[in-house]
Amino acid sequence: MPSICVAIIGLLGLAVGSFLNVAVSRVPAGRSVVRPRSACPACATPIAARDNIPVASWLLLGRRCRACRIPIPARYPLLEALTGLLFAAEALRFGRSETLPAALVFTAGLLALAACDAELFLLPLRLVYPTLGLTSACLVGAATATGQWHRLGVTAACAVGAFALFFALHRIRPAWLGFGDVRLAALLGTGLGWLGPAHLVFAVLAGSSAGLLVGIALIAAGRMTRRTRLPFGLFLAAGAIAALLVGAPVIDWYGSLGDPYADALGASPTAVGHRP
Ligand SMILES: [Zn+2]
Repeated sequence: MPSICVAIIGLLGLAVGSFLNVAVSRVPAGRSVVRPRSACPACATPIAARDNIPVASWLLLGRRCRACRIPIPARYPLLEALTGLLFAAEALRFGRSETLPAALVFTAGLLALAACDAELFLLPLRLVYPTLGLTSACLVGAATATGQWHRLGVTAACAVGAFALFFALHRIRPAWLGFGDVRLAALLGTGLGWLGPAHLVFAVLAGSSAGLLVGIALIAAGRMTRRTRLPFGLFLAAGAIAALLVGAPVIDWYGSLGDPYADALGASPTAVGHRP
């Protein structure tokens, strides 16, 4: 893909990140993401267009509201910058393939869900379902464009399989795995099943390991007790985004080790799998 297209998709990511901030601030409270216009949460002054430029406005305003000088949380520029960077990285990874729109929509939804989970320990239905619906629509579009209907079948099987596995774990230990994580698992199966089941396995293993390591590190540092909650959805979302970006080379490497289990995971070069 030409660099100009990657840059444009990166800029689109910055704008999408700005919208995700609105969604993260309003959806958990049951408010509309469309109306009213964005305003400072402290003084309610509407935010002018010149103060609404992703990342740049935050820096130019000295990280404070222009009217009341209350600090603007760092989550705003961070989410914008991260969305922009990930959109550009996925444009490079997937190029002009039919998978790119689904990957971008899936990533945007995961970022909003990760932010909600980190701030409120919530994975709102009003974010999960639109992401699930839009990602599925993009994948149906991809299957229609390419005739790869079998990949759609694998996607559906991954979504149902991930939901069933997490639902079973939730029933065994509800305190460890909330029902929000069960719905998130179905979303992960949908977004990653198109690339092959191995990507889904990669995401769940990477996300769980990251959560476990962070938990152990926080306990070791005395920053957390065994009773402290960790936003597991945040780690699953991170694992899924990692699977999109670096899953294929890792799975290929694992397959090249000649592990007999790799074939079962769909990681062999001959299996239905990890094409872009
Ligand atoms: Zn203000």
